[in-house]
Amino acid sequence: MNILIFGPPGSGKSTHSRNIVERYGLSYISSGDIIRSEIARGTSFGRELDRYISRGDLIPDTIVNTLIISRLRRQRSNFIIDGYPRTAEQVLALENYLYDHGINLDLAMEIFISKDESVERIAGRRICPKCGAVYHVKYNPPKIPGRCDVCGSKLVQRDDDREEVVERRYDIYVSNMRPIINFYKRQGLYVRIDGHGSIKEVWERIRPLLDYIKARETSYQRHQGLP
Ligand SMILES: [Zn+2]
Repeated sequence: MNILIFGPPGSGKSTHSRNIVERYGLSYISSGDIIRSEIARGTSFGRELDRYISRGDLIPDTIVNTLIISRLRRQRSNFIIDGYPRTAEQVLALENYLYDHGINLDLAMEIFISKDESVERIAGRRICPKCGAVYHVKYNPPKIPGRCDVCGSKLVQRDDDREEVVERRYDIYVSNMRPIINFYKRQGLYVRIDGHGSIKEVWERIRPLLDYIKARETSYQRHQGLP
């Protein structure tokens, strides 16, 4: 079972990816994690990536493709890819790789939430600048409003989490993903999961679908005498 997962800011896709990895034994390939770890290694390539991000520019497709495809080459098990592909060029690179290696995708899953929900989840976040504790004004409020439970520091909102920034990130996500979603719709692989509600509620929408795909795969392998 090989899966793509995507969703707008605050959709909870990383949390659900971790649950999927744990339950179905897939390798987790996250474009964000791969890019961050390249930057953390401090190589000249990592510094180049860092320059794109600090300028607010997109990392060129050729670089992202190289990073993801070389990660795919190094692994033998089934996978879930988070945050890739995001452009038509990236779709093409992934399709070529999968075709050349006889690998099938089973699902392109979007965890979808409305713009209002996205803004509420992200703009409500508060961070402690001193100890790094994370709160949410509605879902995980500190005991004293505006103060960190752990160290008492004044909580702040990250620039990236401001309402107008979240709205813009949401709009960019929707317009960038439209052609990619249409592509996977035509392939019969696209499924939209309703991402509203608690983590547990959303998980109970995902799990039966993946259990079904897994069961179908197992029965196919048995039928073919495959391991
Ligand atoms: Zn603190």
